[in-house]
Amino acid sequence: MNNRLYGNLIFELSQPGRKGYSLPKNRFGDYTVPQELRRKEDAELPECDEMTVVRHYTNLSANNFGVDNGFYPLGSCTMKYNPKINEEVAALPQFQNLHPLQPAETTRGAEAVCTLLCRALCELTGLHAFTLKPFAGAHGELTGLMIIRRYHESRGDAQRRLVIVPDSAHGTNPASAAVCGLEIVEVKSLSDGTVDMDALRLLLDEHGQEIAAMMMTNPNTLGLFERQIPEIAKLVHEAGGLMYYDGANLNPMLGACRPGDMGFDVMHINLHKTFSTPHGGGGPGAGPVGVRKGLEEFFPEVSPYHGNFAVAMRAYAYILSLGRDYLKYVGPLATLNANYIKEQLKDVYELPIDGLCKHEFVFDGLKDKSTGVTTMDVAKRLLDYGYHAPTIYFPLLFHESLMIEPTENESLETIDGFIAVMRQIAEEAKSDPELVKSAPHNTPIGRVDDVLAAKHPVTTYKQLKNEQD
Ligand SMILES: *Cc1c(COP(=O)(O)O)cnc(C)c1O
Repeated sequence: MNNRLYGNLIFELSQPGRKGYSLPKNRFGDYTVPQELRRKEDAELPECDEMTVVRHYTNLSANNFGVDNGFYPLGSCTMKYNPKINEEVAALPQFQNLHPLQPAETTRGAEAVCTLLCRALCELTGLHAFTLKPFAGAHGELTGLMIIRRYHESRGDAQRRLVIVPDSAHGTNPASAAVCGLEIVEVKSLSDGTVDMDALRLLLDEHGQEIAAMMMTNPNTLGLFERQIPEIAKLVHEAGGLMYYDGANLNPMLGACRPGDMGFDVMHINLHKTFSTPHGGGGPGAGPVGVRKGLEEFFPEVSPYHGNFAVAMRAYAYILSLGRDYLKYVGPLATLNANYIKEQLKDVYELPIDGLCKHEFVFDGLKDKSTGVTTMDVAKRLLDYGYHAPTIYFPLLFHESLMIEPTENESLETIDGFIAVMRQIAEEAKSDPELVKSAPHNTPIGRVDDVLAAKHPVTTYKQLKNEQD
């Protein structure tokens, strides 16, 4: 780690008059920006030589952690390996240089990719039709709920405005329902984390005529397979509602079972999660929405053209490169890896809900609570050992949630290495709790003040300068 350069902003490396560029000759004749449109003073831009720029950004990039650097067990996010062939295919000039407005007869290949991808997604999910337009999972949820709303309206059933959401749901579920102008009713989970059927029956008895849909993810947010889905779907359908599947957790089902066969009517898929597009830092993504036969006429226009085409390209490359023969191992291997880690660690970490999990599971902090070492401390200490931290303090069902999702690609050696480090940290928590509480020690930046960063973010260089003055 280059600590000398780290922490400097490119502005701080600036030297007046230093230049690291030469612009190409103007290819457009004598055209210059009209005087009245020019700025009156020079922009405050950093002035650096080329080597300084190269080193600055290369060093910054080396501080980044990605799945190509090391193990990334971030629960709920499916940070799986993204095969490089996907990038190559998406970057083929024939696809990359397309313009959405070029004549249709010149884009037949791209259209075929979209059609074939939709067909593959139908086969993998057991649904009838897909739209590739939504740009992310949450956008897919909104799109799916718009479809459900229009479906009810088309039947003169516009009073159906309630969406049932389990209390363990991802935050985007209630948020999407609210954005769609619908209201949320929460249904409680049992102590094992699955939907409380009695509570659901009561809810449907009370609000049957107003229910638009129930949103669920399976495996649920605790990584548990909801066995009652066929019964839940039956109850919701009888009440006149539709079943929405949040497909962010599709990975462990891939090749093993299909939402369409379980009774779901509408779903989205996070292509960037299950079908391998690099998506750390919030993008890019794609959230195609699939529907049961008859609902495709309600597809709304949520984006121009074909959505995030490059992500669709990657997903299609991924599906073809694994093929039918190997896609069927994705879910089972992801499940095996998660269960292996859980079983190897549950004597030192608190496992609030025991039993078979799917792709992920949740610990409620260290088993020994007497040390005062929290989930946050464990997560920070993991960074010292070169691992990305798991998801922490989500789901909200437990105080010290630590949510681990290994994905199918990790080798036994990688997983054993992670288990050894998790055990080592549990040991340190007993023998030297301060070491864990003050971690990380080996990263360029130590422990940051999250609250201050959230409440008082410094986002511009000027602001930073003024703060220091
Ligand atoms: C990631 C995730 C989402 C949201 O997906 P985005 O693509 O980030 O918008 C929704 N539900 C669950 C369960 C998720 O894990």
